[in-house]
Amino acid sequence: MRVPAAADRDGPRAGEDQVDVLILGAGPAGAAAAITLRRHTRLRVALVERRLFDPFRPGETVSPALFPLLEYLGIARAGVEQRHLESYAHAAAWGGEELVVRDFLFNGRGSGLHLDRLAFDSMLLDQAGQLGAQIVQPAELLGIAPGARWTVTLRQGERQRALSAAYVIDCSGRSSVMVRQQQCPVLQTDRMVGVYAYYEAGQRERLQRTLVETTEDGWFYLAPLPAGRSALAFMTDAETLRTLDLLDPASWRRHALASRHIGPLLRELPAPQALRQYPIHSRVARLPGNAAWTAAGDAAASFDPVSSLGIGHALSSGIQAGRVAHAFLEQGGGLGEGYRQSLLDHFESYAKTRRALYANERRWPGSGFWQRRLAHDCARAA
Ligand SMILES: Cc1cc2nc3c(=O)[nH]c(=O)nc-3n(C[C@H](O)[C@H](O)[C@H](O)COP(=O)(O)OP(=O)(O)OC[C@H]3O[C@@H](n4cnc5c(N)ncnc54)[C@H](O)[C@@H]3O)c2cc1C
Repeated sequence: MRVPAAADRDGPRAGEDQVDVLILGAGPAGAAAAITLRRHTRLRVALVERRLFDPFRPGETVSPALFPLLEYLGIARAGVEQRHLESYAHAAAWGGEELVVRDFLFNGRGSGLHLDRLAFDSMLLDQAGQLGAQIVQPAELLGIAPGARWTVTLRQGERQRALSAAYVIDCSGRSSVMVRQQQCPVLQTDRMVGVYAYYEAGQRERLQRTLVETTEDGWFYLAPLPAGRSALAFMTDAETLRTLDLLDPASWRRHALASRHIGPLLRELPAPQALRQYPIHSRVARLPGNAAWTAAGDAAASFDPVSSLGIGHALSSGIQAGRVAHAFLEQGGGLGEGYRQSLLDHFESYAKTRRALYANERRWPGSGFWQRRLAHDCARAA
């Protein structure tokens, strides 16, 4: 857990209330934007985070494609691998009863990782702080007022504080604070939700890989986490969640036990600590091409967890958003339109791939969940 630095606890130092770029949200996207700006420019950066991180942050399976992005941010692969659990394979029963195993060992880029999200996000935040970003955490956002510069009002404990910024990057995840405040158009394709159970003392020998299994009403995802923990999630629609009463632990367990591959593993796991619900719908914002703000990570575009795109996209779009801010402030703009379009193009290609993946499951033609997956044709987001 990150302990707020002295400057956060005792009040700002002289000049800290005026920054060039204020980043809202210190998840992977916000930290990547801050690191990019501090490594490659002389701009003054503040990173505002509303809370101390929750140990249960969903989103933990990442592919080896993450490593070049981390290297760009100055974070060595060896240091990351030591702290997280290597992921050697994915096994999935999708479109049929048998498990199909895809091994990372043979893809030429090495294994992926099961992240300890608290450690991963804290590592990125520490890197941003060491490079000179002002970290303001925890801080409650009270308001953002436009003008020649943005005035961002925060509450830190008992104290109220105003920060003035020339540029704002919205990295507030699915809260997408600026996207909403600026009434930026958003294309949302569905209303999917994920219900998570976290288990202590998972069966490490049996959970060396991620396991995905479809059911009539959605799909399960079981993943090992570092330190002997496991996460079991069920992804479905908001309406199906209510009909099946899946936030009730007994209904949840009954549903999971009935599944062919996950069920037998679940019998060996202790009772989950708690069930948590997360929104996992897909959406993309049509960001402005040339304005004094932009967005990155989930605030700009968010994806179905089946894609495992979230964290990689958060890092790459955070890096891009940092470059867009720099170009706007010091080179008269020029990158915003390309960034906006690349997000829309990326989302369009993701939506096609996702549709094809869901179309592979044809065993329940009468199921509302699977019908809805095919009904959403979001091929053209732009
Ligand atoms: C159930 C589920 C499973 C997933 N599985 C995977 C997976 O296997 N692999 C993968 O790559 N991705 C996965 N993801 C997606 C991944 O978690 C996200 O894409 C990623 O965390 C996005 O990073 P971010 O920095 O954009 O947002 P976040 O990580 O959400 O960070 C946003 C930050 O902004 C802060 N914030 C919000 N509002 C404010 C405010 N008003 N003021 C200040 N701070 C604020 C929040 O506290 C938070 O710390 C999953 C997501 C879910 C929900």
